[in-house]
Amino acid sequence: MRVPFIAGNWKMFKTGQEAVTFAEEFKEKYKGTDIKTAICAPYVYLSLLKNLFSGTNIKVGAQNAFYEDEGAYTGEVSVKMLEDVGVDYCVIGHSERRQYFGETNESVNKKLKRLLAGAITPILCVGENLEQREKEEQYLVVRDQLVGAFAKIEAEDAQRIVIAYEPVWAIGTGKTATPQQAEDMCEFIRNAIEALYGEQVADEIVIQYGGSVKPANATEIMNMPNIDGALVGGASLNASDFMEIIDF
Ligand code: PEP
Repeated sequence: MRVPFIAGNWKMFKTGQEAVTFAEEFKEKYKGTDIKTAICAPYVYLSLLKNLFSGTNIKVGAQNAFYEDEGAYTGEVSVKMLEDVGVDYCVIGHSERRQYFGETNESVNKKLKRLLAGAITPILCVGENLEQREKEEQYLVVRDQLVGAFAKIEAEDAQRIVIAYEPVWAIGTGKTATPQQAEDMCEFIRNAIEALYGEQVADEIVIQYGGSVKPANATEIMNMPNIDGALVGGASLNASDFMEIIDF
């Protein structure tokens, strides 16, 4: 049984005080909800949020991690460090990391393997850009990203990965994929996972849609049979908007 999972991605937004204000407001609103949720925040706020959300079911995620445990890698944060802080989730391969920071299918694969060696759940982002969609290459692109990301990962680990389908042209643009476009790709992803790992893994793996999810479009998207959740950027910065999405 797949439980809906809606995660917020704060990207590089908020001050410490703004994070505290959000957490206090969101904790009140979230009481009694059974949808799984997490806030994926900048590294510097992870400990703070872990403390603020302790005693609740609200989980905390990072937005990236490095695959080596320690070493001369100035500016990087290891999975081991995130484990130390008690982080629950980690976004891997977000399109902004692929676009601006040289993330590749190979580095994504290494990061996933390191996360799966511990207890943090990876949220793997895949998705095509506008040019690829216009050339109708979206399925080829996403298939390639999946095959690269899951290389040499065993079935029992694979089913722990949350996959977020995020068409790049819909991220932060206000332009959402239609619920049918999102569903078609999420169904394609589930079939691709079935081809790699069989029916049981495909049935259990959680697939989110991400790309300008807002309170106004959340219900339609969440009601699609192969969409189990959402990765929410902009609208997760506001506690009321994010809660409205969770209440889809
Ligand atoms: C994201 O950051 O992953 C995202 C989907 O952003 P937005 O909801 O703002 O499009």
